[in-house]
This record gives sequence, C-alpha cells and structure tokens, in this order.
Amino acid sequence: MIQQEEKSGVVGNSDQELEFLLSQGDGIGPEITAAVGQILDAAGVRMRAIPVEMGEKSYLAGHTSGISPEAWELLRHHRLLLKAPITTPRGGGYKSLNVTLRKAFGLFANVRPVKSFPTILGGKPMDVVIVRENEEDTYAGIEHRQTHEVTQCLKLITTPGTDRILHYAFRLAEARQRRELTLMVKDNIMKITDGVFSSRFESLKADFPSVKTRSMIIDIGTAKLAVRPQDFDVVVAPNLYGDILSDVAAEVSGSVGLAGSANLGVTLAMFEAVHGSAPDIAGKGVANPSGLLQAALMMLAYAGRREAATLIENAWLCALEDGYRTADIASGKEKEIVVGTDAFARAVIERLGRRPKELAEAHAVELPSVEPSLQYAALKAAESKTNTSKELHGIDIFLHWDEAGRDPNVLGEKLMQLAQGRLALRMISNRGVKVFPHGNSATVVADHWRCRFVADNAVTHAEILELMGHLVKAGFDIIKTENLYWFNGKPGYSLGQGE
Ligand code: NAD
Repeated sequence: MIQQEEKSGVVGNSDQELEFLLSQGDGIGPEITAAVGQILDAAGVRMRAIPVEMGEKSYLAGHTSGISPEAWELLRHHRLLLKAPITTPRGGGYKSLNVTLRKAFGLFANVRPVKSFPTILGGKPMDVVIVRENEEDTYAGIEHRQTHEVTQCLKLITTPGTDRILHYAFRLAEARQRRELTLMVKDNIMKITDGVFSSRFESLKADFPSVKTRSMIIDIGTAKLAVRPQDFDVVVAPNLYGDILSDVAAEVSGSVGLAGSANLGVTLAMFEAVHGSAPDIAGKGVANPSGLLQAALMMLAYAGRREAATLIENAWLCALEDGYRTADIASGKEKEIVVGTDAFARAVIERLGRRPKELAEAHAVELPSVEPSLQYAALKAAESKTNTSKELHGIDIFLHWDEAGRDPNVLGEKLMQLAQGRLALRMISNRGVKVFPHGNSATVVADHWRCRFVADNAVTHAEILELMGHLVKAGFDIIKTENLYWFNGKPGYSLGQGE
C-alpha cells in the first residue's frame, strides 16, 4: 500500500506522457531493454516508447550507416533516445553508428557517472562523473594508408569543441557538492592538440571560482582513478581518453554492466549503457540490465522526472542490498542470490517504494542544459576570429621514398638542390624523429619522410606550389602536405624530435 502511494505520488508529478525513441540494439540489447521496460512500467512511468530500428538489421538491409531513412526521420523529430548497445565490426566493415549519431546530432557531451558500493560489492568508494568530449579527437575516423608501411589517423581537436565540453564540465562540477574538476590529457606529448584542452581549461577557471581544479597526465590519472577513485569527483577528458577512462571506472566499480551514460546535444539527447552488445553472453538471459537502467534513469531525470528516477534507483539499491546479483557482479559470497536478467528486474520491481537501509539514497546526477556551453564556445570562437593573425611560413611535404638504402643524407642532399627559392629545407624527420641534417644512424626509419621547408618571412601559396612542382618533376611521390602557419607571431606546428 505504502508502495502504491509513494509511487503514484512521485511519478504523478509530471502530467505529460514521456515520449522517447527506443532502440533495442544488438547482442544482449533486446534482453536488457525488455528488463528495463518492465521496471519503468511497474514504476508507473507514463511513457510512450517509439521503436526505432538501428544496428545490425539495418546494416544488413543495406543502410551503411546502420540507420534506416525512417529512423533518421524519427531522430530528427524527437528529443530523447534510449539506445541499447549496437554491435560494430572491428578492424573493418561498417562505421560505428554510435559515433555517427553523436556527430550527426552534435551530441558533444558524454556524461558517464560511476558509483561504487564498497560495503556490498567490494572495492573502493567511488562517486565519479566522467565528462567525455564526444565528437572529435581520433573519433573523427579520418584514416589513410599512405605508403607501403605507414598508416595514419588524424586527431582533430577544435577550440570550440574543447570550449563546449570544458565549460559543460565546469558547470556540472559546480552543481555538485564536492565541486572538484580534474582535466586528463597528454599535453606533454601532444602539446598542440591536447595543449588546447589545457590552455582553455586554464582560461575557464576564473569563471568558476568555486570549482577546485587540477590537471593530470592521462596515463597516471587513469592509474590513480583505478586505485584511489575516492580522490576524484568530476573528470573531463578528450574523446578517446574519456572512453577508456569510463570503462576503467565502471569495471573498477564492480562491472562495466553497471554504468549508464548520457550523450547530450541541442535537439537530441541519447541515453545508453556504457558497455557494448556483449555477444559472448547474448541470448543467455544472464546480462546485467543495470547499465541500461541507469541510462533510462538519467533520461527520466533529464526529462524532469527526477522523482520517478529516484523511486526506481532506490528499488535497485534495495535489490543489491538484499543480495541480488547478476553473474558479472557476483562474488561468491553466501548471502548472494545470483539471478538472470529477468529475475533481477523482478527483484527491482518488487522493491519499488522501498528505500535502501545501508546504502546512501539515490540521487540522480544533475545534467545541466547544453545551451550556455554552446553559447560560451560560440562567443570565444568569434573573439578568436577577430584577434588572431595567420601567416604562411612554409610547408611539410611528406614523401613516400624507398631508395638508396633509405639513407636520409641522400634524400636531404637531393631536396636541398631542388629547393632554390626562398623556401629552404630545414629538416627531414621520419616517424617524428629528425634524421637530416645530423641524424642518428641508429634511428629506425620507415618509407615515409616528412620534409620541412621554411622561409625567413611569410611565403605565398604560389611559392609552395612551385617547390612542389620541382619535387614532382624530379620523380618524388608526394603523399601529403601540411602548411606551416604562424598564429599571432608564433609557430602553429610542432618541432620534430631533435629539431
Ligand atoms: P562489451 O562491453 O560488449 O563486453 C565486454 C565484456 O563485458 C564482455 O565479457 C561482456 O560479457 C561483459 N559485459 C558487457 N556488458 C555486460 C552486461 N550488461 N552484463 C554482464 N556482462 C557484460 O565490449 P566488447 O566485447 O568490446 O564489444 C562488443 C560489441 O559492442 C562490439 O561490436 C563493440 O563495437 C560494441 N560496442 C557498442 C557500444 C555502444 O553501442 N554504445 C559500446 C561499446 C562497444
């Protein structure tokens, strides 16, 4: 009876039916989606889940993005998507539809809260929110094979993309009790790309004086998070690091099957589990539905149904307290009741209306709206446009060259003869290390050479084209070029190691 009263009271808060798109996903997707649907239904959430087809079936039907035209149409006209994991081929095959969705709808903020329950699941105390940039970095997916030996993936970091996510992370941290924000980057190596994150982070500090900040190198930062998660509150990171970091955090908390995530943009917000489609356990009825449930609860809270989210999360906490475990979080203790997906969902449903005794009560993560962060980034971009000068000073010409025993001195001499205008050969590097002039004979070289030509002053594109013409005439295979610009009187490119 109490259960009914509490349930209807809280869920009845919002009069409107909650309408969202629902993708069942692949692998364990349909099993965990059914379990989550039963829990939301039983909690009395007034909702209309509109099925949307994406993933393996759509790929097989010939839609190379994994999303059918009908699904695109639905996505354009709805604001919420609850998405179970999708299988993405490894190594080759179709592009990830997750990445496509995040980029197509500008879902720039990926928020991944991870909590641990040391008293019942073991491990260290953890209540962390990882804010991951969701559109850029190596996930732009721009890759090329350039020579017989060398492949390349472009890491793209934009200043507006960085400003958006950092600003959002500051706001999210500001709304939390601890108000601590840690940036994780590798700016000791990627001084320009990751350096953008560091410098914009520094600039933002003044706008959020109540937020305590620190910056860590991603490798040691990840190690520290794994061993002392209690030292972290909100962590913000570029795309790839954030992806790895959140799986580490979820696994350390007990299982990757426990964490949910929100992908937020202006027109669409997508909620999903952190984990993948787990083909190894698909169809066995043993998957943990908690990750997708957490995603659904984030969606409820985001859509103004915070009390419904709390009601369900409290029931979920009670199920854990009472010993219910799916196999991934079972530790073999006597008190545990190891159950499959459906029975776990039933255990949650039976506890709707109850509050945890031992664990802290549920408290959904506050997800700030994305608009102010987009506005901040747009403002900064406009300022930067008017305040930044740009001058062309040279070019890096990348050659596929495999002659003369790959002796850099032979290549260097030839190129010096060909560069007769204002652009002079400054150096040649191979895999980032300077090999000419004065290279080290022990350096192992590939068939891919970066040849840097610079002038004392600004040069024109015509001068660069003339130089390239000389090289092509001499039979060199130019595989790509990068212009060398100076911005506000400073070089906008990295030096070769040893340059
Ligand atoms: P995965 O997360 O699917 O599985 C990793 C391990 O964790 C497996 O042992 C799996 O059994 C276990 N696991 C995952 N979720 C679980 C759950 N809910 N309950 C119990 N155990 C669970 O990672 P993977 O094997 O690297 O990827 C499988 C597929 O999922 C790939 O095609 C990958 O591209 C895709 N994927 C999709 C998403 C997404 O849709 N957002 C995210 C990550 C991976």
